[in-house]
Amino acid sequence: MKQLPLVFEAPKRGKPPKHWFDLDIDERREAVVAMGLPKFRADQISRQVFDRLEDDAEQFTDLPAAIRGELGEQLFPNLLTHVQQQTADAGRTVKTLWRLHDATLLESVLMRYPSRSTLCISSQAGCGMACPFCATGQGGLKRNLSQAEITAQVLAADQALASGAIPGTTGRLNNIVFMGMGEPLANYNAVLGAIRTMLEPSPNGFGMSARGITVSTVGLVPRIQQLMDEGLPLTLALSLHAPVDELRDELVPINTRWPVDEVVDAVWNYAEKTKRRVSIEYAMMRDINDSVEQAEELARLLKRRGDWGWVHVNLIPLNPTPGSKWTASRKSDERAFIDTLERRGVPVTLRDTRGSEIDGACGQLAAAAV
Ligand code: SF4
Repeated sequence: MKQLPLVFEAPKRGKPPKHWFDLDIDERREAVVAMGLPKFRADQISRQVFDRLEDDAEQFTDLPAAIRGELGEQLFPNLLTHVQQQTADAGRTVKTLWRLHDATLLESVLMRYPSRSTLCISSQAGCGMACPFCATGQGGLKRNLSQAEITAQVLAADQALASGAIPGTTGRLNNIVFMGMGEPLANYNAVLGAIRTMLEPSPNGFGMSARGITVSTVGLVPRIQQLMDEGLPLTLALSLHAPVDELRDELVPINTRWPVDEVVDAVWNYAEKTKRRVSIEYAMMRDINDSVEQAEELARLLKRRGDWGWVHVNLIPLNPTPGSKWTASRKSDERAFIDTLERRGVPVTLRDTRGSEIDGACGQLAAAAV
């Protein structure tokens, strides 16, 4: 398989249109004043959006009808156009393919469980991190998503839940995981801006809990340190996939820049400072990273950093992508790997593979229309 180059800087493509979701609270007030409206209209508009989940300005019935058209054009352009939807798990897992204003495609996956709903969200169109086992990585990086394009995925999911289209109890999204397309910390400002809107209480945001938001990274160490200093108790997930540099250099090429020890130190510091347990994501690949010796190595690597309260290992059965030499581990090897970690006292879970039949599990979001 061809070795893809690592890409840090997203190519500049047509800038997405400005949207309410790109603005913070002060900027929203300035924007309505610039349209000749009093400041209090900004709160009214936010209430429509975040409380009523309405983003069609023509439906903002508490605003004068004469201004709704201009408001829609200036601050509520359509960001996501629905292209197609696939469902699995009796309709409770929904993968949606969206087209952006410049024809870029992206995907998000909504999963409803008995007592909660989780949205797997994209932060970039494509990904520049070039992990060879990952469908998204094989397509390369198209561009960064704007803050509004990230936030719009949340609104669309909340609208879908509220409409009753997805079987289960009603209610808002509880969890967001940045595990869709892209490396979120490579699009830091837009991701953090979108997270602040998710956390902001009503009427200015979705009012979610920071503990319900997981940022997943391959290990951009300076950005992990920056995230730690934000003072937000977000959950951090490190896609480790290998316990030693030689193998991780191959599976996660960014490792050549920030090696295993350095990145594990960074996430341990994150856990220390935020008091949030870090997830170590480990995609199980047959005869590549799934031996008992590698489980021992992983336990040694994590144990060096203190007791087990700071970390949890999530083993992910790999969803093989067509034409790839990487495939899922045998069940017996999976079991032996788990047993080895458990014997050493490492908290470990084998993740369920919801969405795998619609290519909606990790490493499968490739944004292709069928
Ligand atoms: S595994 Fe994650 S970081 Fe690596 S190429 Fe895929 S989407 Fe990017």
